[in-house]
Amino acid sequence: MTPATAIKHVQEKAAAAPSKRGADLLHDPLLNKGTAFTREERLELGILGLLPPAVSKPEEQKERVLRNIRKRPDDLDRYVDLLSLLDRNETLFYKVVTDHIEELLPIIYTPTVGKGCQLYAHLFRRSRGLFITRHEKGMIRDVLKNWPRRDVRVVVVTDGERILGLGDLGASGMGIPVGKLSLYTACGGVPPWQTLPITLDVGTNNQALLDDPLYLGVREKRVTGKAYDELLEEFVLAVQEVFPKALLQFEDFANHNAFRLLQEYRDRLCCFNDDIQGTASVTLAGLYSAGRITGRRLSEERILFHGAGEAAIGIADLVVSAMMADGTSKKEAMSRCWFMDSKALVESTRKDLQDHKLPYAHKHKPIGDLLSAVKELKPTALIGVSGKAAQFTEEIVKAMASFNDRPIVFALSNPTANSECTAEQAYRWSAGRAIFASGSPFPAVDFEGRRFIPGQGNNAYIFPGVGMGAIASGATRVTDEMFFEAARALASRVSSQELEKGCLYPPLTQLREVSAHIAAAAAQVAYQRGYATEPKTKNLLARIRSLQYRPEYPNYA
Ligand code: NAD
Repeated sequence: MTPATAIKHVQEKAAAAPSKRGADLLHDPLLNKGTAFTREERLELGILGLLPPAVSKPEEQKERVLRNIRKRPDDLDRYVDLLSLLDRNETLFYKVVTDHIEELLPIIYTPTVGKGCQLYAHLFRRSRGLFITRHEKGMIRDVLKNWPRRDVRVVVVTDGERILGLGDLGASGMGIPVGKLSLYTACGGVPPWQTLPITLDVGTNNQALLDDPLYLGVREKRVTGKAYDELLEEFVLAVQEVFPKALLQFEDFANHNAFRLLQEYRDRLCCFNDDIQGTASVTLAGLYSAGRITGRRLSEERILFHGAGEAAIGIADLVVSAMMADGTSKKEAMSRCWFMDSKALVESTRKDLQDHKLPYAHKHKPIGDLLSAVKELKPTALIGVSGKAAQFTEEIVKAMASFNDRPIVFALSNPTANSECTAEQAYRWSAGRAIFASGSPFPAVDFEGRRFIPGQGNNAYIFPGVGMGAIASGATRVTDEMFFEAARALASRVSSQELEKGCLYPPLTQLREVSAHIAAAAAQVAYQRGYATEPKTKNLLARIRSLQYRPEYPNYA
C-alpha cells in the first residue's frame, strides 16, 4: 500500500467507525487485522497478548483461510466459513474472495447462497443487514438510522418472495442482499462500509417456514395490496432521506411486484432491478459478442424467448432500447422479439396475458409448442429463461442450425440442472456451429478436434460496475442507456481468441478490471444525460480505479 492509499484507507475507516482500541478493535470486522497486527500496533492499540505472538503477512492469512475452506466437505460449509470470516475480518474476506473470484463466486453467490438462504434460520450465527417488517410502519426512517454507518452508497433490498429459483423464503432471503453486496465490493470495488443489505420481511406464504420453530422472520402470511405498497413507499422515501446518495437495488421480488416497483420508482430515484435490468445487460453483451462472430448488427437479430418473465421481458426491453439507439424504430425493434410462455406463443389473440407481456403480443396465429414456433418464426437467437430444464431438444437445436449458419442458443435458466440444454448438446446438435452461453457454468467441450469454452452470462459482470459508475458520477437515475452501454463495454472486453473458442464473456478473473470499464461507461452516460452530481473528471476510468476499494490493511502505527 502506498502511504497515500494507507492514509486514505485509515481516514475512510475511521470515518466509517469511531476509532477503537483493545478487544473492541479485534471485534470490529472492518478494522480488525487479526494476526496481521504488528507488535508496535499491538502495543499502541492495547491488544498485546490478545493474539498469538506470531505476526502473519496477509498472504499467509489468506493461505490459512484457503487451506481450511478447501478441506471442507462441501460448498455449504465453505459458505458458512467465509461468512464467519466476513464477520471477523472484512479485509481478509475481500482479499481471499477478490484474489480467487472464479473459485469462490459460486460459494458466496449462486448456487451455494441459495442453500444458505434455505437454511438461514438453522445456520444463523450473527445478524448482518437490516430487517424491516410491517410492524415498523411509521418508523422505518428510525430503523434505517439504527444502521451504524451514514455514508451508504448501495442498498440491496429484497422482500424474499422469489429467492433465485427457490421461491418464497421470507426473511431467510437475507443471504441474497448480503451476498450481492459482497460482490459489489469484491468485483466492483464499492467500499464495504458503503453497502447496506436490507430485507423487507412482509411475511411469507411458505408454510414449511411458518411451521419451522427456528424460523427467524415474522410468522404471518405476506402483506399484499395497499398495505404492501404503502410500506414500500415509506421505505423508499426513508432511504432517500436517510441515505440520500444511495443507489437502491431491488432484488428477488416476485415478478408481479418487480415490474410494478421498477415502473413506479425508476424515474423517481437512483434505482434498478438486477433480475430485470442486470440480466438484460449481461445477455445483451452476449448478443453483442455474438455479433462480433456473425458480423450481424443487433437490429438484424430475430429473437425467440422461451419464458416471458422478469428475465425475458427485461432482456427484450433493453434489446429494443439498444436497437432504437441505433436508429431502428420502436415498432420494428419490438417486432424482432417473440416469446413462448408456459402456455403458448405470446400473440395478440390471447386473452390470458399478464400486463408485462402485452406489448410483445404481436399479430400471429396461435402456436402451442417451442419446436413449431422455431420452425415458423425462424429466429436467429433462441434464449431460454423459463427456469425449465431440457426444453431445447435435439430437434429444436437442429432446426435452429438448419436456417442459421451460426445459431445463437442461450440456455440461461439456473441452476445447471435447469439449463435448457447443456453446452455439449448445443455444440454437438449444431455440428459445432452454435454460439452458446449459459446461466450456470459449463465445463469446456471437446468436439471434432476443437475445444469450446462456453461463456456464462453471470449478472456479476454488470451490476458491480453499474453500481460503481453510479457512485462515481453521483447519478440520480439508472437508465436503460447505462445498461446497454455497460453491455457494449463488457462485450468489448472479450478478446478475439476468446471469441474463437466460443466464449462470449471475458474470464471472471478479470471482473475487477471489467467492472471499472463498465463503471466508466455508465458514469459517462450519467454525465452526458445530466444525471451526474459529482464534478466531472477528464479521465473517468482513472477516477473509478482510484475509488475502487482494495482489500489492504490500514497501517495503524
Ligand atoms: P420468472 O418466474 O419471472 O419467469 C419465468 C417465465 O417462464 C414465466 O413467464 C413463465 O410463464 C415461463 N415458463 C414457465 N414454464 C414454462 C414452460 N414450460 N415453457 C415456457 N415458458 C415457461 O423468472 P425469471 O426471473 O424470468 O427467471 C427465469 C430463469 O432465468 C430462471 O431459471 C433464472 O435462474 C434464469 N436467470 C438467469 C440469469 C442469468 O443467466 N444471468 C439471470 C436471471 C434469471
